[in-house]
Amino acid sequence: MYKQKCTTGKVFVISGPSGVGKKTIIDEILRNKTLNMIMSISMTTRHMREGEVDCKDYYFRTRKYFEKEIENNAFLEYSEFVGNYYGTPKKYIYDAIGKGQNVLLEIDVVGYKNIRNNFDHGGIVSIFIAPPTLAVLRARLMNRNTESHDDLIDRLAKAELEMEMRHAYDFVVVNDKVDDAVREVEAIIMKHIMP
Ligand code: 5GP
Repeated sequence: MYKQKCTTGKVFVISGPSGVGKKTIIDEILRNKTLNMIMSISMTTRHMREGEVDCKDYYFRTRKYFEKEIENNAFLEYSEFVGNYYGTPKKYIYDAIGKGQNVLLEIDVVGYKNIRNNFDHGGIVSIFIAPPTLAVLRARLMNRNTESHDDLIDRLAKAELEMEMRHAYDFVVVNDKVDDAVREVEAIIMKHIMP
């Protein structure tokens, strides 16, 4: 009997408090071509930071546009984070995994809770990146200098709540030394994409 060989990509979620170093880790993961990983591009209503590029870092859109897309049921999940919407467009992910590509989502803990139970395309592997301590996180965020004072306070308060959610994830990786954290995340991904 003819049996069709069918490979579907896998979806990975990375979450963690603002300033924990997710971007550095993700950049390394995307550089590793053996992982066959692409990044899901989220849509957001927040302002564009210096150096960010529309349609690459995010689809930067107005609240009006975002709310229209909610009505159109265009998101796999979305949530509001310190006053701005963030959402994962469905189409991009379904197209990618259909072509056998693995997809990485960088979303917050609320977004993860929203998709954890209603994504039935082979399940999701979730990784929470944690700082060694909250004091280290505070120092990193202040050094980053990308947020206003009020936004920084909000992000730190949110970080404490997010840390409490880390046990809902399949894996927790502490980002103390970034090279070690990258190696740990790579090992988790490899384990789940090997046939
Ligand atoms: P930032 O403003 O620093 O780029 O992101 C703020 C937070 O939004 C981060 O915790 C990030 O993981 C989260 N985030 C980014 N994209 C999405 C998304 O599509 N959905 C959800 N739920 N959160 C997102």
